[in-house]
Amino acid sequence: MIRVGINGYGTIGKRVAAAVRAQPDMSVMGVAKTRPNHEAMTAVDNGFDLYAAIEERRPRFGEAGIDIDGDVEALVAQSDIVVDACPSGIGAENAAMYREHDTPALLQGGEDADAVDASFVSRANYDSVEGADLVRVVSCNTTGLSRLIAPLAESYGIEKVRATLVRRGGDQAQSGRGPINDILPDPVALPSHHGPDVNTIFPDLAIDTLGLKVPATLMHTHSINVTLESSPDAERVRDLLAGERRLFVIPEWLGLDGAGAIRELAGDAGRPRGDVWENCIWGESITVEGRDLYLFQAIHQEADTVPENVDAIRAVLGTAGAAESIRRTDEAIGLDAALTGSRT
Ligand code: NAD
Repeated sequence: MIRVGINGYGTIGKRVAAAVRAQPDMSVMGVAKTRPNHEAMTAVDNGFDLYAAIEERRPRFGEAGIDIDGDVEALVAQSDIVVDACPSGIGAENAAMYREHDTPALLQGGEDADAVDASFVSRANYDSVEGADLVRVVSCNTTGLSRLIAPLAESYGIEKVRATLVRRGGDQAQSGRGPINDILPDPVALPSHHGPDVNTIFPDLAIDTLGLKVPATLMHTHSINVTLESSPDAERVRDLLAGERRLFVIPEWLGLDGAGAIRELAGDAGRPRGDVWENCIWGESITVEGRDLYLFQAIHQEADTVPENVDAIRAVLGTAGAAESIRRTDEAIGLDAALTGSRT
C-alpha cells in the first residue's frame, strides 16, 4: 500500500483525497488543514484523519469540536508521498519540509515550474518523473492542452498550436473572484503564460496562447487551431481523439451545447460533485482545412488534474507503468464509465 498524505484540503485536495482513497494500492494517511471550516468538518465526517497545517492554530480545531490527529509534520513523516494542494505559492514554501523528511511531494499547477524537479501530465511524460523529489502536476488548462497535443503530435506531427482559452472567472465557492459582468482579455499582453507552461511538458512545441476571463464558474472553454505536419481528414482525427481514455468526444445527439449541460450530465451520471475528469471535445467542431485542425473543448478546472495526481504518485514511486496506472486510476474513480455509458 502506498501511504499518501494530502496537505491542503480545498477544491483540489478534497477531490484528490477521494480519488486516492478509491485506489486499491493506496491509502490516505490523513489530510492537513489550516483552519476548522466546513471542509475540515467534512474531511472528518468522511473518515479522513485530520492534521493541523499550522501548529499555533491547532487549538482552534478543538474549540470548534473537531478532533486533530497531529501536526502536518507528523503526516509528512508517516507518508510515502505527499500531495500538496495548498494555494499557489504555499506549495513551494512547503518544499523544504518535504525535503527535510525525505518525502517526495506533488505540487499543483499554481506553483512555478522552476520550484520543482519536473512537470507532469500522465499521457505525455509519465516515465520522466520516477524518483523525483518534487513534481508539479500542471494546471487544469495545461493538462487539457497536453492531453490533446500528445496524440496529435504522435499521429500527425505538429507544426504549431494556437489556442484561445476562455477561462472561468472563479470556482463555485470563490465568491471574491470575477469578473461579474465583463469579458476580460487576461493577460492583455500576448501571448499568455499558458503556452510556455505547455512547453514544460513539450519543450520543442511551437505554441501561442491567448487568455480571456468570463463570468462563469463551470468550466473553461478552449478554441484550438493546430497546424499539423500532415493532412488527415476530420473523421480520422475524430476517431483518434475518441480512442483516448481522457478525451470525451461529444456526439451531436447528446445535445450538450455548453458547460452547463456537460456538468448536468456528469451529475446525472453519478459523478461525484458533477466532476468531469475528461477533456470534452465537441465532435462537430473537429474540422480540418488542409493541414489546419480546428476544434472546441471544455475543461472542468476543478477535476481534470485529479486523475493526473493519482498517476503521478505511481509514476514518482515507480510502482506501475503509464498505461497500467492510467487504466487503474480510471477504473477506480469511475472515469472508465463513459459519460455516454456504452453508447457512442
Ligand atoms: P483552494 O483554496 O480551494 O484550497 C487550498 C486549501 O489549502 C484550502 O483548504 C486552504 O485552507 C488550505 N491551505 C492554505 N494554506 C495552507 C497551508 N499553509 N497548509 C495547508 N493547507 C493550507 O485552492 P485550490 O483551488 O484547491 O488550488 C490548489 C492548487 O491547485 C493551486 O496551486 C492551484 O493553482 C491548483 N489548481 C487549482 C485548480 C482550480 O480550478 N481550483 C485547478 C488546477 C490546479
